[in-house]
Amino acid sequence: MLELKDLHVEVEGEGIEILKGVNLKVNKGEIHAIMGPNGSGKSTLSKVVAGHPEYEVTKGDILFDGESVLELDPDERAHKGMFLAFQYPVEVPGVTNKTLLRESYNTIAASMGREELDPLQFEDYVKDKLELIEMNPEFLDRSVNAGFSGGEKKKNEIFQMAVLKPRLSLLDETDSGLDIDALKIVSNGINQLHGEDDAVVLITHYQRLLNYIEPDFVHVMIGGKIVKSGKKELALELEDKGYDWLEEHATVNG
Ligand code: ADP
Ligand code: MG
Ligand code: MG
Repeated sequence: MLELKDLHVEVEGEGIEILKGVNLKVNKGEIHAIMGPNGSGKSTLSKVVAGHPEYEVTKGDILFDGESVLELDPDERAHKGMFLAFQYPVEVPGVTNKTLLRESYNTIAASMGREELDPLQFEDYVKDKLELIEMNPEFLDRSVNAGFSGGEKKKNEIFQMAVLKPRLSLLDETDSGLDIDALKIVSNGINQLHGEDDAVVLITHYQRLLNYIEPDFVHVMIGGKIVKSGKKELALELEDKGYDWLEEHATVNG
């Protein structure tokens, strides 16, 4: 489904290389975790896959269903079923969550093979999705992201995922800002939403989230490269040993 090939990325216009040759293959039905120390390039990776204009791909490719998406803007990527949380980061005064979400849903409906929903149908459609993440229904009438706590923003991401039902979800630091109850709700939501036909990439600094969501593969990113990949046991090893032993490994291998 998603393939990153020797991906090199710089900050647009600054000539600072952040990703230095990332290779990754994600098939449908799989959950991948990308872990690594602060500043290793994890968030940059998720933004680049989403098509964030701040970053420039200088070498390599991003393939979705075998086709390059490098020339596609974030909206066009969403039409293909890619979901990346940064797509709705800002507070939009006056626009309610309900309005934005329904618009997002209807915008991609045709390309995802779904019917568009009118306001009443949409109200009905989101009911059980609110329950899934234990979200207060009044949330739908609030302005987009206005006054949200970190935890609420993360819950909101999972709610968006539930509503839009993307084929690929890329979730960055899903555990940050969550207390233990919210973490369980968010993890439970992801587990319930994930199925045979979609894929999830979780980007996380801590092992904690992986107590609740079992990844099929774990990758460690250091210095803009994936330096080690393994199964879920790798996450436990990282919890035990930290990242230092891999940092040395990364240096030795250039
Ligand atoms: P992580 O998510 O793993 O903590 P990031 O992807 O946020 O790492 O950042 C990787 C490195 O790239 C850091 O050194 C960060 O300061 C740098 N970086 C990321 N975005 C920019 C930017 N827009 N301008 C300058 N440096 C950046
Ligand atoms: Mg380069
Ligand atoms: Mg980050």
